[in-house]
Amino acid sequence: MADYSLPDLPYDYAALEPHVSGQIMELHHDKHHAAYVTGANTTLEKLAGARDSDDFGALVGLEKTLAFHVSGHVLHSIFWENLSPDGGDKPGGALGAAIDENFGSFDKFKAHLTQATSTIQGSGWGALAYEPLAGRLIVEQIYDHQGNVGNGSIPLLVFDAWEHAFYLQYKNVKADFFTALWNIVNWGDVAARFDAAKGFRI
Ligand code: MN
Repeated sequence: MADYSLPDLPYDYAALEPHVSGQIMELHHDKHHAAYVTGANTTLEKLAGARDSDDFGALVGLEKTLAFHVSGHVLHSIFWENLSPDGGDKPGGALGAAIDENFGSFDKFKAHLTQATSTIQGSGWGALAYEPLAGRLIVEQIYDHQGNVGNGSIPLLVFDAWEHAFYLQYKNVKADFFTALWNIVNWGDVAARFDAAKGFRI
């Protein structure tokens, strides 16, 4: 039984051009994201095998591998939905108000998330997340797919800072990629995630 499956992109590969090339989108979704889905399912099968054979000798490595692949699947699934050819500008409503309240202003939030994304050492993500214990928004700097994250926080908007996300188009100038992403953020999707997250209790 496959527990995870690769979701379709909500738009054509080339829909986000010129901000993200169709070649990047096709490889990123069909190869990279797909590999995390396969990795998550394969690891769950190995964990079932460990239980069946009562042999937990590889458990520590398998649990790390599970966290890596499931988190990669989660973040990419959110990332595609966070972007839209009709995106950009900035949010209003409850999300806009919460950003102003928790970060000072939209421009301060934008600078914070852009810096969190562009200063990652190695591979990772920048994220706007809802932290349910305080009931506030925070920016997270995620290493790989799962490191440096507070338990319980719910990602609302994620920017992929792995080289596979931009290198074919932006080469070493990754700051231009993050600048471009702001032009295609689907704030309606982010706002819907924020509304749903507010119902979660620790
Ligand atoms: Mn990626």
